Amino acid sequence: MNESPTISLHIPPKMWCDFQKSMVKSRMFNEEVIGFFFCQRHQVSKRKVRYIPKTWVVPASDCYEHQSASGLVLKQHFHSYLLENHLQAGLDIVHIHTHAGGGVPDFSHVDDRYESEYARFISSHFPDQPHLISGVFDENLQFGQFRIWDKKGQRFESVDFYHSLFDVSNFQEVMNNTDLMFLRQKIFGSANQQLLGQLKVGLIGCGGIGSIFAELLGRLGVKNWVLVDPDKLETVNLNRMPGATEEMVQQQWYKVHYVKHLIQKIYPEDSCVQTIPTGIESELSKQEIATCDLIVVATDNHLSRKTAQELALQYMRPLVCLGTHIEVKPDNTPRMYCRITVPPVGGGWCLMCGNIINLQRAALESAPLEMNQMAAGAGYLEGINDPAVFWLNSICASTGVGVIHGMVSGFLNVDSGIDWIYEFPVNDWRKTNTEYLQTDDCYFCGMNSLEEVVENSDFENSDFENPDLIIW
Ligand SMILES: [Zn+2]
Ligand SMILES: [Zn+2]
Repeated sequence: MNESPTISLHIPPKMWCDFQKSMVKSRMFNEEVIGFFFCQRHQVSKRKVRYIPKTWVVPASDCYEHQSASGLVLKQHFHSYLLENHLQAGLDIVHIHTHAGGGVPDFSHVDDRYESEYARFISSHFPDQPHLISGVFDENLQFGQFRIWDKKGQRFESVDFYHSLFDVSNFQEVMNNTDLMFLRQKIFGSANQQLLGQLKVGLIGCGGIGSIFAELLGRLGVKNWVLVDPDKLETVNLNRMPGATEEMVQQQWYKVHYVKHLIQKIYPEDSCVQTIPTGIESELSKQEIATCDLIVVATDNHLSRKTAQELALQYMRPLVCLGTHIEVKPDNTPRMYCRITVPPVGGGWCLMCGNIINLQRAALESAPLEMNQMAAGAGYLEGINDPAVFWLNSICASTGVGVIHGMVSGFLNVDSGIDWIYEFPVNDWRKTNTEYLQTDDCYFCGMNSLEEVVENSDFENSDFENPDLIIW
């Protein structure tokens, strides 16, 4: 038998919250309302397909031909406008409407008929034959369900819906000896522990920060990893990599294999660690990182951070960025920093607009080797000789693990993103006010945050070239 894949729709928490608010606001009395997401399809594995939103639209009440508690019809030209502007190549449509009342509503016969026609219409009118996913919610958008139609509008299958940061679910209540291992952190809840056990973390950079991070997050309960790093262990690394030995250096271990070794020491039986000894720019790395629930970047180079951020935006994955920096003042006293950055999932601000990475450097790093050597000679690049110590890296890695623990357990809200900088020895924790990081026109994340309430005047008499509507 050919088992069909499970299909899920993932909307980042903040985006879902904004959408809910817009939907409720677009209602005048108690009438039904409609909203749309335009989503990209991501085949995670043979048995798993995820839909990820690229943009959303909630029509204002003047876009309706007819709107009441028992049904609604959108103006024809609104529909044309919507599809021409938002249905970019390769995207599928998610159509959400509400029913009056509370609780999980059922699709009505009218819904069946209308959606079936709509599914047929869009698949036959657009070259990419987009699919229709439809959702029905209660009037406050608290409870609902989704289904995906086939292109002929004849059959549908149910779609799992997630609006939390992590989509790991269906916990089985299995008891095993790892329960005892986590006894002392039981206070955080067994659901939290199980989520950690199922979480798949993509770690880019298995060096001085990445290895400590993996050791700490592994001990917290994370067993599934994708490790990416092109480098081999060197003697100069031994001042800051836990458990690394001169013997490993002699045997020319890749850093990814060394970190895998750390994880397997914690979980000899049931860990799953994939090692990719190349840069993040390789197709294989990108592909595998995209299947992770969480992306962590702990490299000292700008190009890999840029690539990690692009992947996080494209696949709507939470991204955690870790870094340290040591400099020496003219009077010979060192100033040391560590920085933990989590840009908001789904855009708002990103590493590029938050100035956490330097695009010129990223460009230099992508240049051929000779040019890099020239740039390094001219002082443009930070090299591997940058000062680094175990204890400072540990503060950074520990805090990063704490942030992830908070994201998983829900005791830390990262919806608007966080950017924390610690300075030693003045012992000063600074939190960047993330409102200042918000950028509307960032090339990387600005378009991603496109979301709006479209009003009739926005499109009436327009030739569909509204310059404000940029699609990713
Ligand atoms: Zn309905
Ligand atoms: Zn940005």
